[in-house]
Parts: sequence; structure tokens; C-alpha cells
Amino acid sequence: MDIHEYQAKEILAGFGVDVPAGALAYSPEQATYRARELGGDLWVVKAQVHAGGRGKAGGVKVCTTEAEIQNGCEEMFGRKLVTHQTGPEGKGIYRVYVEAGVPIEREIYLGFVLDRSSQRVMIVASAEGGMEIEEISAEKPESIVRATVEPAVGLQDFQCRQIAFKLGIEPAMTQQMVRTLQGCYRAFREHDATMVEINPLVVTGDSRIVALDAKMTFDDNALFRHPQIAELRDKSQEDPRESRAADRGLSYVGLEGNIGCIVNGAGLAMATMDTIKMAGGEPANFLDIGGGATPERVAKAFRLVMSDSNVQAVLVNIFAGINRCDWVAKGVVQALEEVQVDVPVIVRLAGTNVEEGQKILAQSGLPIIRASTLMEAAERAVGAWQNDLSHETNVRVVK
Ligand code: GDP
Ligand code: MN
Repeated sequence: MDIHEYQAKEILAGFGVDVPAGALAYSPEQATYRARELGGDLWVVKAQVHAGGRGKAGGVKVCTTEAEIQNGCEEMFGRKLVTHQTGPEGKGIYRVYVEAGVPIEREIYLGFVLDRSSQRVMIVASAEGGMEIEEISAEKPESIVRATVEPAVGLQDFQCRQIAFKLGIEPAMTQQMVRTLQGCYRAFREHDATMVEINPLVVTGDSRIVALDAKMTFDDNALFRHPQIAELRDKSQEDPRESRAADRGLSYVGLEGNIGCIVNGAGLAMATMDTIKMAGGEPANFLDIGGGATPERVAKAFRLVMSDSNVQAVLVNIFAGINRCDWVAKGVVQALEEVQVDVPVIVRLAGTNVEEGQKILAQSGLPIIRASTLMEAAERAVGAWQNDLSHETNVRVVK
């Protein structure tokens, strides 16, 4: 789960990271009022959307008068901000963060990520701040400083000093850098984050180290341990299909294709998407309905997959190990009686009691296309929409 910049800054500030003074606003009027409260003569108004690259897309405005804040906000509120990270549909701007402007001397890139190959939290930093990390690694890979944290002992101060030295931080400011790095690391660990990114971390004209931007991502599977983080979720920033799935306890990722997938098991779901591609099609989603695959879950899955108007065929791929195919088949039949599905449905069952399962599908009277292997199922799914067989294979159940 992602959170907004202002929320990440509040968390990091709680761990001793220096951030600019700022206040949140829900309207242009409120933004000017907030600026007046903050005082000073330089403000930065920042669109709060779950994506980076706002600066280049008009989502960050440096203002010197109240009129500039008002006009800047009027351009932003209610609009969709399209950055290179949002996709072409963009993300809605419903909140802005007003900050006191900071005199920037130097910009640094700082990131904390989970490095899967070393199974450690890894710190990635570069003196080339302001650029995205992808650009830095393409153009200035030698500038990147890395350090991994040994989980048993945590981040050590000497590691922080080493990073500060490699980034060319002045000796008098080394201690501030240590405090910043330790604060970020603790915020990361204590909230089960998967990423903390500060880009840019700046050295100011008055020798402070300040987080000018902040981004945090959390492990969805650990959110139950952090109710105060879970509350920060902002559904206006999520793919509506994915929000619906998360609310129903299903693991769903929306994609661009037109073959809907309903699968039990994440690995099998990945293999199903690969096989659809091999057969010349494009999956519309990743969906793992979990091991149970009860009729209720299958019905929920059909509703979710069919809510995507691009879907032109649905492939159900269930491997019954602990589960039983006859039981799953009953679930599929029951789901198709409850949910209106007007595209071809291809079902591949394998595992325990597969014959009984096939019999239930055949005897249901529903025009389900059955397949015995995954490849066959994928080919039939691709064939079904390519040849526009939908008029022959429609499953139309109106209740
Ligand atoms: P992003 O484009 O979404 O990553 O948004 P950032 O928060 O990183 O802001 C983009 C850029 O705006 C920064 O790299 C800075 O150059 C500039 N910026 C942000 N805050 C300030 C500020 O307080 N003072 C000045 N002078 N520039 C700022
Ligand atoms: Mn940034």
C-alpha cells in the first residue's frame, strides 16, 4: 500500500528526520490560508497523488504570492495529474500540501528497499539527487552508493558515516546524516515498509539536511499489525478494480488484456497468464482466489472479473490438491447461476475427483467450454474471443 507524501513526512518526522514545515489543504482557499499560517515569502504547493514525477508534470508549484497559490491550486484541484508513473489515465488531485520553501544547496537521492537477493534492507543513495533512480542507474551508475543492513544488529552508525562520506557530506553535518538515515531505517522496520524513498534529500543553505519529498510503501500482508497505517489508505488513488478486490480479500492485479483469469494459487495464476500469452492472448488480470475456492469466493471472483468491461473470455483454472474438483465445479456452476456472465467461460480442472468435477460441469446445462490441460484451456480462451464465438458459447443467466 502506498501513502501520500505528507503522510510519509509526518511518519519520518516522528523518527527524527527533518522535514519542511507544511500543512494540508482540500481547497485553493484553504491552501492560501495555510500559507499565511506558515508565514514566510516562499511556498511550495504540491499535489498529493500516489505517484512521483509530479514536478515535471505541473504538480509542484513554487509560489511567492497568495495569488500564485490560489491560481496554482485552481489549476490542480479536481484534475487528473498524469506523470510518467501514473499511466495515461492519471491520478486525481483532491488534496495539496503547502510547504514553506527551502533554499536548496544540494540534492541527494536516498532510498531504502527490500533487496530480495540478499534478503536484507538495502540503502541506495546517490549524490545525483533530483533525478529518478532509474535515470541515475542508467546515466550515472558509478554515483550509486549501496549498503545492506544485517537484520540481527540493525543499521550501524559507522555504515551511516560511510554513506555520508561517500556522498561528500561535510564533516560538520555527518551527525545529521546519521540521524536521518537511522530515522528512515527505524520508520521502515517498525511499520513493515517495503520502501522509503526521499528524492530529493537536500542540504540547505543554512546547513540542514531536509527531506524535501518522501514516499513510503507498506507490505499489504503486514497491515493488520499497523492499523494506524492501514487507516492512511486513499482509495481515490487506487485502481478501482484492485480496491474492490482488496475489500473482498482477493488478490487481484488489473492488466490491459481481455482474457479474465480466475485461478487458485499465485504461482498457478502466474503460469496461467504466461500460457495465455504463449497462446497469443493477453490476460485481463491476475487473480488468486486462494486455496479454499468456495462457491462464494468463485462467485465473487466472477463478479470482479466481469466488472472489467475489456473482458471477452474468462479462463477458470483450478488445481485441486487439498481441495476437490467436484466441489469447485459446484462452485463454478453456482457462481454462473448467480452472476451474469455473457462471455465464453473456459474451465480447466485438475487434481482430486476431476472426473466427478467434469461430470458436474457437463450436466449443468451451462455452455461451459471444458479443457483438460492448461495449454488447451489457454488456446480455447484465445480462440473463443478471436473467432468471436461468443454468440455460440454465451453463458447468459439473468436472475
Ligand atoms: P516529484 O517530482 O513528484 O518527485 O516531487 P518533489 O517533491 O521531488 O519535487 C520536485 C522538485 O520541486 C524538487 O526536486 C525540487 O527541485 C522542487 N522543490 C520542491 N520543494 C521545494 C522547495 O521547498 N524549494 C525549492 N526551491 N524547490 C522545491
Ligand atoms: Mn521527488
